[in-house]
Amino acid sequence: MFDESKYYLGKLCKRGHEYEGTGKSLRRLGYKGGSRRDGRCPKCIHIQYAAYYARDAECIKDRNRAGYRKHREKRLLYHKNLRIKHPELYKEMGRKSRAKGNYLEACHHYREANRERICNYNGEYRSKHRHKVNKKDRERSERARQTLQASYVRRILHQLDGLESKDIPSELIELKRTQLKALRASRAYKKGELPCQTTKPQ
Ligand SMILES: [Zn+2]
Repeated sequence: MFDESKYYLGKLCKRGHEYEGTGKSLRRLGYKGGSRRDGRCPKCIHIQYAAYYARDAECIKDRNRAGYRKHREKRLLYHKNLRIKHPELYKEMGRKSRAKGNYLEACHHYREANRERICNYNGEYRSKHRHKVNKKDRERSERARQTLQASYVRRILHQLDGLESKDIPSELIELKRTQLKALRASRAYKKGELPCQTTKPQ
């Protein structure tokens, strides 16, 4: 069955896109609440748009990009306001748009197809903004060290015990984390930074 909030069955379209042997074509309803039906066949729209795009792809791309840039401030402000005023709605919108199609798979395909380009871009970005990137990297690894993130614990296990990342189960990470916590607490205690009674076993 088709989505009745979006389409209705109308006269067979000029390209003969018949809907499941009904002798009729799907036709677009148009905007909700609008009095006029759009009436166009979705398959024909697709064909027309593809032809239109093929005729002048570069020009259309440029125009879209220009529009995207032109309304940048406006868009950012809109998102910012929505995020602050309706955080739950905003999150829901994000979830919905990611659930549309297959977001993760699409991202994966994009990365696979553009691997070289992305690599080059990242390399260029890193060399252009070396200080900024290095600072961020340092901050990130310092954060990982302080909060004993899995990435940090994994690195320790690799460096000290020679384990490969893929051979480290999550239980081991949890154990190592506990050990590191205890080690830190005992060091702090020796330095006199930590009174004995506050060192709770974790
Ligand atoms: Zn059609």
